[in-house]
Amino acid sequence: MKSNSTLLILSCFFLCSIGAFSQDISSTVTGGEYKFNENNTQCLTDEQRKEVLNDIRSNISLLRSQNRLIHNETQKRAPTILLSWPVKMKDGAPYNEVWAISNYVDQNPEYPNKVLDYNCGTRTYDTKAGYNHMGVDIYTWPFSWKMMDNDEAEIVAAAPGQIIDIGRNQSDRSCVSNSNLWNAVYIQHADGSVALYGHMKKGSPTSKNVGDTVERGEYLGIVGSSGNSTGPHLHFEVYSEIKWNGVGQDVLIDPYAGECNSMNNDSWWEEQKPYVNPNINAVLTHSAPPVFPDCPGQENTFEKNVFEPGERVHLAVYLRDQLAGSKINLKVLRPNGTLYTNWDFDLTSSYRSSYWYWIIDMPSLSGEWTWRATYQGQVVDHKFTVGTLSVKDTEFDAISIHPNPFNDVVYIQSNSFVKKASVVDILGKTMMIKTNGAETIKEINLKSLSKGLYFLRLEGVNKEQKTIKLIKE
Ligand SMILES: [Zn+2]
Repeated sequence: MKSNSTLLILSCFFLCSIGAFSQDISSTVTGGEYKFNENNTQCLTDEQRKEVLNDIRSNISLLRSQNRLIHNETQKRAPTILLSWPVKMKDGAPYNEVWAISNYVDQNPEYPNKVLDYNCGTRTYDTKAGYNHMGVDIYTWPFSWKMMDNDEAEIVAAAPGQIIDIGRNQSDRSCVSNSNLWNAVYIQHADGSVALYGHMKKGSPTSKNVGDTVERGEYLGIVGSSGNSTGPHLHFEVYSEIKWNGVGQDVLIDPYAGECNSMNNDSWWEEQKPYVNPNINAVLTHSAPPVFPDCPGQENTFEKNVFEPGERVHLAVYLRDQLAGSKINLKVLRPNGTLYTNWDFDLTSSYRSSYWYWIIDMPSLSGEWTWRATYQGQVVDHKFTVGTLSVKDTEFDAISIHPNPFNDVVYIQSNSFVKKASVVDILGKTMMIKTNGAETIKEINLKSLSKGLYFLRLEGVNKEQKTIKLIKE
């Protein structure tokens, strides 16, 4: 009896106090699945592939005759030619990640509708005409057209090698099946294997030429929708051998190792990513729900980061591989870092990409607020401002730290006076507080922290604040 009434009083205290300054945001949810390439367009027609491979053969022959070919034919596939991830977010783009996967290689030579990926699943496709998907389709998410128009999703070399062909000037806003050729860069690695990077944005391929070499991670182009394509994506196709003299068969591989990969046994990835790979691709604030117009229109994203007190904000998250039966935790934090509201959202379906947004009418408390999503152990913050930042606040906001990730000492670079520094872990537990009295804080020693993610909160003399995500290695 006693404990029940205590609970009642406590829960009333808790709920009433929440109710006094909070809104029921969780029930305003809207969103759902975003579907890419529903019609499964063949990325490269059979004739086009033939043409591409023949061009590659003649370029290899030419480079060979000029003694410029890097591939030494006595060297068979070296296990050192491992692939790193070929898509990279442009530095400074406002997302957390920019890609998702629509299709793997089809391992089942039968057709139509006889599909099998390396993991014995069906994330691949074939066509009535007998095409079995020969590459990995990596599409951009969210806002793929905006990303293409702003060069926000880069294609980079998965391994060092030599450019053996390149195409630059095809139109790049394909939405449906067509016979246009794509823009692409083709690289041969030292062991003779060849990677095709297709569907690039018009004019975006590297200014390097056939015969030039590229480093691992070097810029090759921008993810686009040139050629036979229904939207911006990279088609990444790999051969262990290309028969430069036309004798014998070219050998296609599937870079993923898995039970149902009957093409090759070992993974070609330096670090093979999980088959299903849930991720928060973006956490953003908007003045209105984003609009996804018909292809190939650029999305109207209504992104906004500075709001008036009382203004309505659309809080959004964009997920890759959302898992049925999982939960995402959402939080809104006040400028001083305390919790304003917090809720869980149940994800009832599995989607390759999805978006969800909630509506909040901002309280009049000015300053830099935080919109935080936590999913499958990943924490992503988005900062937005209510009211106008004073000059002092803006200066304080320019504070930077280095190194990050760090091992022991973190240095604070600032023109403002830093009065207090505190570090909290992802559960909100304070791990360290430092104040320096009359001197600004220039460094903090965090040697004693264990590996993981933390938040460093810095405070100035006029209550200016800044929170920075820290990673201890
Ligand atoms: Zn493809």
